[in-house]
Amino acid sequence: MHVIEKVLNYVKEKNPHEPEFIQAVEEVLEALVPVIDADKRYVEAGILERLVEPERQIMFRVPWVNDKNQVVVNRGYRIGFNSAIGPYKGGLRFHPSVNLSILKFLAFEQIFKNSLTTLPMGAGKGGSDFDPKDKSDGEVMRFCQSFMTELQRHIGPDTDIPAGDIGVGPREIGYLFGQYRRIRNEFTGVMTGKGIDWGGSYIRPEATGFGAVYFAAEMLATRGDSLEGKVCTVSGAGNVAQFTVEKLLQMGAKVVTVSDSSGTIYDEDGIDEEKLAYLMELKNVARGRINEYAKKFTKAKFMEGEKPWGVRCDCAFPSATQNEISAKAAQTLVDNGCILVSEGANMPTEPDGVEIFLKNNILYGPGKAANAGGVATSGLEMAQNSIRLMWTIEEVDARLKTIIRDIHKNCYETAERFGYKGNYVVGANIAGFIKVADAMLDQGVI
Ligand code: NDP
Repeated sequence: MHVIEKVLNYVKEKNPHEPEFIQAVEEVLEALVPVIDADKRYVEAGILERLVEPERQIMFRVPWVNDKNQVVVNRGYRIGFNSAIGPYKGGLRFHPSVNLSILKFLAFEQIFKNSLTTLPMGAGKGGSDFDPKDKSDGEVMRFCQSFMTELQRHIGPDTDIPAGDIGVGPREIGYLFGQYRRIRNEFTGVMTGKGIDWGGSYIRPEATGFGAVYFAAEMLATRGDSLEGKVCTVSGAGNVAQFTVEKLLQMGAKVVTVSDSSGTIYDEDGIDEEKLAYLMELKNVARGRINEYAKKFTKAKFMEGEKPWGVRCDCAFPSATQNEISAKAAQTLVDNGCILVSEGANMPTEPDGVEIFLKNNILYGPGKAANAGGVATSGLEMAQNSIRLMWTIEEVDARLKTIIRDIHKNCYETAERFGYKGNYVVGANIAGFIKVADAMLDQGVI
């Protein structure tokens, strides 16, 4: 039996109730076959067996009191998956769907993503099944304070540096950081995504979306093409989606959709800067639902319960959540003439959908490469915190662009070297793997 199959069987047997985690491991391990076959040291040192087992998994009770004076209990998590190349780094997700499987898949993906950024960051992820959506500011603050009261003993600027993800934006990061600072009696760069006046970095809010668009531009350039005039669909309406739209507009593309969990907005005329400003206000300040957009801009259609993938486009930017593009949706995109998919979200395409993209020669940028701009800029925030300086907007954006260009080049060339030219799935996984695996070889069996 091939070692990849053996390890995969082990993962399935040990984690039977974790479908998302198994899905992520399967995708990565299958892509690693060429490098595992080419270098026996990885097998001899048990690298794969160690790679699929988190270094640590913390689960804890998060009790808090709601506005009706009732006690509520949520579950908190932090996974430290791999620290071979740096302290654990990865976001916190607050969403009712959060469970161990989802956080382990995200933390596992983070290993390869963080490695690709070229910065010294290991991989972690955490969060809670808490839903900030229908809560008051006071409730969100009390929850965050309770969550951090436990989390603070497991993290630190040289141990584990959380950031945001779904449901964790500037408001939540503020409350979490405040409680850490209070309990630990220290002001350090323990979290990223901080406010600009208290240790944050310029471009960090924009970085994931901007990066996904830069990555798309790099992929198009390999075919002598650009984003100018392309019709684009975007899913989600949160942090990643908003700045994906902003950068696409700057690059001369036309964006015709955004969405949230209630449905999709189809704006055939295109979302311009004024409409984007409204969307940001709606989502970040009023915390409203996406159908409001169609009430304000009456030529736009609200498609209740639908995802954007039925809308004809040249380029698609899934920026909401995992498994949001089914095989059927992938086929629809291809049939409608889509030539590029750049994943702002993590694992938004189901495995059969990925197959369809690859078979049809779509420029397909998997999340761990295409959305690495977010964590890369978090790495830049950490660097600025360490030297206690702040770089300008232009400086951070230039570094982000360079990092994305290098990630693209590394993925492209690695795929080509292993005989899979144009396959960014193979390129990203192998390139991300080699650096971490070699560090693990150097550091012995730990
Ligand atoms: P936000 O919470 O800011 O926005 C998430 C958006 O996706 C919302 O519009 C939300 O709609 C929608 N959404 C979430 N869950 C679902 C669901 N189950 N079904 C349909 N729609 C859903 O999160 P981010 O923009 O930060 O994250 C989006 C994606 O990008 C995630 O996959 C995340 O892991 C990934 N990512 C984020 C990074 C970052 O820097 N923030 C970095 C790298 C990747 P609703 O409000 O209705 O729930």
